[in-house]
Amino acid sequence: MAERHWDIVAIPGVELTHVPAQAIRGLARQAKELGACIVVVHGETITEPVEKGTNLAAVQSPDVDILAHPGLLTAEEAKLAAANRVYVEISARKGHCLTNGHVAQLALATGVKLILNSDAHDIPDLLTPGFAAAVLNGSGLNEAEVQQVLSTNPQTLVNGLSLPSPR
Ligand SMILES: [Zn+2]
Repeated sequence: MAERHWDIVAIPGVELTHVPAQAIRGLARQAKELGACIVVVHGETITEPVEKGTNLAAVQSPDVDILAHPGLLTAEEAKLAAANRVYVEISARKGHCLTNGHVAQLALATGVKLILNSDAHDIPDLLTPGFAAAVLNGSGLNEAEVQQVLSTNPQTLVNGLSLPSPR
């Protein structure tokens, strides 16, 4: 509906939060069947923790697109995410952002692709281009890496989704 009036692409999606790790694979599948084009899993952030094993289950699920705020992601989880084309989030949200440096460092070491998210709950949380770049710089990424996360990765992610045809 918004697309008829605004020059945006609205992508229906869901974030799976506080579900049993063992149920993630099936729920992600179900979400896609019900019309979600993008499935995000709320990862093991250190400030709002979910069941241990959530990160691992998310990076092994074929229908999960993004592992959000994964906290102390392990190298094994990062490698699986890279192999299964699951993007891992750098978060601009207070608390969730505390492990951004760790996540970015692991991404550079393992090749997992990063995606930046405002995790906006309210209007002031939305990102400006300057703040988006600053969050990524603060995660330890250089200019080329920042551009990749801001431009290339979201484009590649969206290109890989099966979007509903515009109405
Ligand atoms: Zn979340």
